[in-house]
Amino acid sequence: MSVLVVGSIALDTVKTPVEEHADLLGGSASYAAVGASFSCPVNMVGVVGDDFPEAHIDYFRQREIDLAGLQRVPGKTFRWSGEYMWDLNTRETRSVELNVFEHFTPTLPESYRATPYVLLANIGPNLQNHVLDQMERARFVIADTMDLWINIARDELLRLLGRVDLLILNDSEARQLTSETSLVRAGARIRAMGPRYVVIKKGEHGALLFGDDRFFSCGAYPLEDIHDPTGAGDTFAGGLAGYLAAQDTAEVSWEQLRRAVVQGSVLASFNVEAFSLERLRTLTTADIHERYEMFRLMSQFEVL
Ligand code: AMP
Repeated sequence: MSVLVVGSIALDTVKTPVEEHADLLGGSASYAAVGASFSCPVNMVGVVGDDFPEAHIDYFRQREIDLAGLQRVPGKTFRWSGEYMWDLNTRETRSVELNVFEHFTPTLPESYRATPYVLLANIGPNLQNHVLDQMERARFVIADTMDLWINIARDELLRLLGRVDLLILNDSEARQLTSETSLVRAGARIRAMGPRYVVIKKGEHGALLFGDDRFFSCGAYPLEDIHDPTGAGDTFAGGLAGYLAAQDTAEVSWEQLRRAVVQGSVLASFNVEAFSLERLRTLTTADIHERYEMFRLMSQFEVL
């Protein structure tokens, strides 16, 4: 089964305390689509300008990502620049240039409309809603969001929440959305807003999955060297969505969701080992399986 991924496609400039790189392949859809492509076929929707390097398009093709929904229009590609502080957890956005993104309307090719799994990666909730308006009968819809939309497009985001099966957001966003300090309370509050499932990401401390009267806690892989945390959340969402789509069952089960959260965490842990999507370029299925097993062993313990 395939997954439809919509989001931003960007040229990023990223500064960490030790390195700075400009014009890197980035954007929520780029990370999410490549993350999902390790498990299932991907239909990508996004926009780039005429300055977008052909080599990046070739890379998407190499990952066998369907690009019928990729719009290439005159103008400059969306650009984002961010700087990480010493702990690599705190980030400041230095600049955002919307460019061709400003007038982007995600129009689905006919061939995408019946895609069973949908990942609405981080873009404005109005665009995320517009994608759902064009879908025929999605089996499972996942959405990601960010603080910006909670601040400036709250009503549109609340409308979206009534239409998604799983919302993914980070801890500060969950607190911002619900005005709760406890993440357990925040998870329950968000579920009451619509999504049956909620994942709250806690950066280097892992992720929490909330479902009907139950939750699952997945740790993060303890890495010695983190080079660039950009796109960790998007790669997580892509890995999770790809895993679910590859199961091809009539209903998504709680057990599948737990494994999908681990798969997302595995992909994200690789992604932060290098700038942009560089680590994903050399990643193999064997690497993924090996680290999945490390995650399993890491969180297993004997009865008292
Ligand atoms: P993350 O590290 O998961 O927050 O994702 C970082 C990616 O999000 C970068 O590659 C940016 O290009 C992209 N990005 C930053 N701001 C926005 C925005 N307002 N809308 C869509 N994508 C964005």
